[in-house]
Amino acid sequence: MDGIKLKEKILNEVKCEVQKLDFTPSLCVIQVGNNPASNVYIKQKEIMCNNVGYKFIHKKLSDDITEKEILHLIDKLNKSDDITSILIQMPLPDYLDEKKIQNRVNPLKDVDGLNDINIINLINNKQGLKPCTALGVLELLNEYKITLKGKKIAIIGRSTLVGMPLFHLLENKDATVTLCHSKTINLKEITLNSDIVICAVGKKHLITQDMINKDTIVIDVGINKENGILYGDVDFENIKNKASYITPVPGGVGPLTIACLAKNILESYNIQK
Ligand code: NAD
Repeated sequence: MDGIKLKEKILNEVKCEVQKLDFTPSLCVIQVGNNPASNVYIKQKEIMCNNVGYKFIHKKLSDDITEKEILHLIDKLNKSDDITSILIQMPLPDYLDEKKIQNRVNPLKDVDGLNDINIINLINNKQGLKPCTALGVLELLNEYKITLKGKKIAIIGRSTLVGMPLFHLLENKDATVTLCHSKTINLKEITLNSDIVICAVGKKHLITQDMINKDTIVIDVGINKENGILYGDVDFENIKNKASYITPVPGGVGPLTIACLAKNILESYNIQK
């Protein structure tokens, strides 16, 4: 499954929609500190915004800022008509309460879909902004015309960022979903009994070829860096000829996260309107 090609397709579609608007939607990213990985991710967001035609605002705050000051800034951005989307760049320094800060973002501007109100909407299959990586997995499955109704799907990893929202998205599409995690006993038995295996853990080659049946669909969300090389959670080389579809790392799910952020910024603007 080619995530790069699909990303370009989605970004072009979004760009066309944005050109029709008589207003320029915007993304404001709030960063606390100077985490090098965050700097890279924020740059990618800026490039995407410039490409699609969004206004990009970066609020880079020093890591001695108080929680009260951040909450005050979010309140101001929530009220601003010029700022249509807000994203809190994770991770935040330990002294800050991530959940409290995330929940302060107006749910209609919360393009990460991590505000509790958006999570409740997701669980109840209601309109709302949803987490980008989970949406990206859905985009890939949809692009390759993989029907989900009635399929047995194993998700490995239950984070609020990826695994948990994916569970609800897929379950809302009438799949039968098993959510696995670090305490799951006999993971192999579950993956061998699944039509689709989605891994979002962060452990290189956790999924080996003996855990996959012939023709299983394998989606690898994991990103692991070793000696400067990126690996997924799936042993791609030994599974690629066995699976019916498989995503590479890099070039699979990763590009779709940014593409779905572009879609979410547009959706955020539309639902506010
Ligand atoms: P996380 O650390 O929050 O969650 C990891 C999950 O894996 C937990 O639920 C844990 O229970 C489970 N787990 C740990 N060890 C396990 C094991 N041996 N067997 C089964 N389950 C196990 O991580 P996250 O934020 O969900 O990210 C997961 C991976 O996805 C990371 O590699 C991250 O870099 C990557 N990621 C990629 C994108 C992307 O755009 N491609 C986006 C977000 C995260």
